[in-house]
Amino acid sequence: MRTTVAVVNGPGQDFALEEVELEGPRADEVLVRVVATGLCHTDVTMASMLPAEMYPHVFGHEGAGVVEAVGPDVAGIEVGDHVVLSFRSCRQCDRCRAGEVGYCESSLLLNYMGMRMDGSTAYSRDSGPVFSHFFGQSSFSRHALAYADNCVVVDRELDLTRVAPYGCGFQTGAGTVLNVLRPGPGDSLVVWGAGAVGLAAVAAAATTGTGTVVAVDLVADRLERAAALGAVTVDPSTPGEQPVVDRVKELTGGGATYGIDTTAVPAVVKQAQQALGVRGELVVLGLGAEEYQLDAIDMLQNGKVVKGSIEGDSDPQEMVPRLIAMNAAGSFPVDDWIRTYSFEDIGTAVADLHDGRVVKAVLVW
Ligand SMILES: [Zn+2]
Ligand SMILES: [Zn+2]
Repeated sequence: MRTTVAVVNGPGQDFALEEVELEGPRADEVLVRVVATGLCHTDVTMASMLPAEMYPHVFGHEGAGVVEAVGPDVAGIEVGDHVVLSFRSCRQCDRCRAGEVGYCESSLLLNYMGMRMDGSTAYSRDSGPVFSHFFGQSSFSRHALAYADNCVVVDRELDLTRVAPYGCGFQTGAGTVLNVLRPGPGDSLVVWGAGAVGLAAVAAAATTGTGTVVAVDLVADRLERAAALGAVTVDPSTPGEQPVVDRVKELTGGGATYGIDTTAVPAVVKQAQQALGVRGELVVLGLGAEEYQLDAIDMLQNGKVVKGSIEGDSDPQEMVPRLIAMNAAGSFPVDDWIRTYSFEDIGTAVADLHDGRVVKAVLVW
């Protein structure tokens, strides 16, 4: 069938709408008519960092839509189901069986290689194949091929433009709090970068009764949103403001129990480590920098931990419904962070995300 994709034709090039040919679903695949797809920093970062031979490439990994066809081997999903698309895992390896699906032994092949395991791609155009299967979906497309394990079936009453970001950004921030750190009333948590991932972390921290939550960002609108969720806010660029590490230590009674970095800015990661208290723990979530520099003496002397997490250690089949239920109950108030853009305006959405003018851009057909 013919469909329209927002494709990137070379490293760092703009997204361009083009018609391509899409294969029908294979035995284990699900054809989804995409209604909305969240735009995540990972789409933009990957669109400029892949080797030149991996273009043209269709990104998009926060899709939501309606199932139009299912392969004969797909269980649990029917035509007409509404689904939120997330990352893919094999569900069979030791990591997957331990519930750590984000660390699936086949994660690289299933999510990032731009093709199926057999080397084929679902999209093609006259000049040849189009790399796809990004996070098992490539949902910057009117139609996406996904898999049973990364399709989360949701209530048909839900607005698909509101639930698309649950498949990556929202579950990453919230999962880091609810699965990885689990802060409680005696703890402090500092969130570095209050975009969609950071704000989702702040919102989740409010539900665990976290003692003190601090949000650090340079954008006033984001800090206002964090404050509305109960966070104390710090803008390091404010004239006369004391150094950010000192300020955060003061607000957290000598240093934070926990930190979450969503910026992937090396200087910020180092500050986030330094602002931890003794035995404090920092989780880094951002994609962008190749290396971080840490304060070695501080790390050793104070027994600090710096670690990474994929998708907040979430299993989307568990976390997406959980967060949607929290949202319905009023305890995960994320709806007004979303601004919708038509796919024709994807360039504007990318620019607004880059400049911090939008918390969560969602593209709609
Ligand atoms: Zn696996
Ligand atoms: Zn993402």
